[in-house]
Amino acid sequence: MLEKMEDRFDPEAVIEEFESLSRDAGRVQRETLRKILDENGGTEYLQRWGLNGRTDSHSFKDCVPIVSHSDLEPYIQRIADGNSPCCLTGKPITTISLSSGTTQGKPKLVPFNDELMESTMQICKTSFAYRNREYPIGNGKALQFIYGSKQFKTKGGLAAGTATTNVYRNAQFKKMMRTMQTPCCSPDEVIFGPDFHQSLYCHLLCGLIFRDEVQVVSSSFAHSIVHAFRTFEQVWEELVTDIHEGTLSSRITVPPIRAAMAKLLEPDPDLADTIYSKISGLSNWYGLIQELFPSTKYIYGIMTGSMEPYLKKLRHYAGELPLLSADYGSSEGWIGANVNPKLTPEVATFSVPPNIGYFEFIPLREDLNSQGQEAKPVGLTDVKIDEEYEILVTNFAGLYRYRLGDVVKVKGFHNSTPELQFICRRNLLLTINIDKNTEKDLQLAVEAAAQLLVGEKLEVVDFTSRVDLTMEPGHYVVFWEISGDPEDELLQECCNCLDRSFVDAGYLSSRKVRTIGALELRIVRKGTFHKILDHYVGLGAAASQFKTPRCVGPTNNTVLQILSVNASRSYFSTAY
Ligand code: AMP
Repeated sequence: MLEKMEDRFDPEAVIEEFESLSRDAGRVQRETLRKILDENGGTEYLQRWGLNGRTDSHSFKDCVPIVSHSDLEPYIQRIADGNSPCCLTGKPITTISLSSGTTQGKPKLVPFNDELMESTMQICKTSFAYRNREYPIGNGKALQFIYGSKQFKTKGGLAAGTATTNVYRNAQFKKMMRTMQTPCCSPDEVIFGPDFHQSLYCHLLCGLIFRDEVQVVSSSFAHSIVHAFRTFEQVWEELVTDIHEGTLSSRITVPPIRAAMAKLLEPDPDLADTIYSKISGLSNWYGLIQELFPSTKYIYGIMTGSMEPYLKKLRHYAGELPLLSADYGSSEGWIGANVNPKLTPEVATFSVPPNIGYFEFIPLREDLNSQGQEAKPVGLTDVKIDEEYEILVTNFAGLYRYRLGDVVKVKGFHNSTPELQFICRRNLLLTINIDKNTEKDLQLAVEAAAQLLVGEKLEVVDFTSRVDLTMEPGHYVVFWEISGDPEDELLQECCNCLDRSFVDAGYLSSRKVRTIGALELRIVRKGTFHKILDHYVGLGAAASQFKTPRCVGPTNNTVLQILSVNASRSYFSTAY
């Protein structure tokens, strides 16, 4: 049968398109803003700011204010309730995405539409084209640890689900994946199964059944890959038995999953023996992924930002396989594609396609932000190398000058569009008085203290934190789940090291004069972070999109309770 032109994926054409867009980023940005304002200028929201049909960037910045999610929430709620589907966009919004909202403990609603779907496809195609040039993959399959979340209807009858679910369910997206990439090993019944644990088990089983064909192992976020292989360590014997006997474990109870898996499973003692012997040959699971899936070319997923703490474990499972960092985006929309796939995750950058939205950048240099006055945002092509910025997004889905909340650093330019490195969320995680610590600061402190466990062959499985103001003075609490049971002395040392590793001047001086109390390290039982994941999945979050909250806010009662019920030991720093 003749292949239709549109069904063919032409990587060179995709690369050429990105090169051309990025060469002319300034003009494309102006054009994109004009299009967004042409399409949506008549909406209640934009009319309110008196643009009166103007579509140039000066008028836009003069009239339309910088906003946060809470400013737009009443509009989005009215859309969700079915009261005014066009208050933010010219065309009615018909789908809502749920962002992870992990810190506050409840997901945020954001509009989703065809234009966001299109930019998702553009980003996927672009990064795939560049990736495939460096790491070509042959015909085969992808072992993807992806999970749809529950979709539900809002009061106004709109479909609502996490952005990843909205994307995975989209027919056009599925078609593109087929033309461009190796298809997923697992059937849809597994991806969209109602029980995350059962889906994970079956993803692993499907991967093993197609072990020789697997070319790529991936997930949205690196956390899911690490979680999958930690689970593999627990259940591998059962998986091998399933393959040997050709029958599915009784732990899988969802009838459509059982039916779909029955079509794939048949007794295969040879395969079972091979897997068994591969695993027996491993030392401490090093190189597991490479051994299990010998044709794999690389491991792929978001590995930057809050995923960095999982890299060490992922490298251990990966052996010699390269780790390739996936693109940068959010439920609100995409920001950048990774077009330099050879960079390691620690230095990965994201190049902004200038046609997917209109982007502004608030400089964060301290001398520019004085007396509570924030510096003026600059345009996409006006950012400076090595400077840090907060991103503002204006897109085709009803967000105008919207604070995404992320801090990025400009590392260079791809033609004339910037290459951004993700730094952290802008909001401070830990602050009591004059101290200021971000997610990155916490991550660095945990990394430093976790080094002390290496000699005992132990690791921090996951971590989070909170500010405890119930005692005077307030203090930081860091929660750790550890892979084993170290001695008290060692944990006391870790606690002191954590305390000493927060080096911002505000924290140091407050600790010295005791306006911040001794840092507390609380050890939680094994499986605690699993329970936190289950809690979010129960709320409708997709396991694929899960990010461990690195700070648990005072209103996040359920997570606080999971942490306190599971705390087993506690140490107070004696560092100061
Ligand atoms: P969500 O709204 O649940 O989709 O989460 C979006 C947030 O995840 C972004 O605002 C970032 O903070 C983070 N994120 C997404 N992609 C990346 C990436 N490639 N690197 C680091 N953080 C990311």
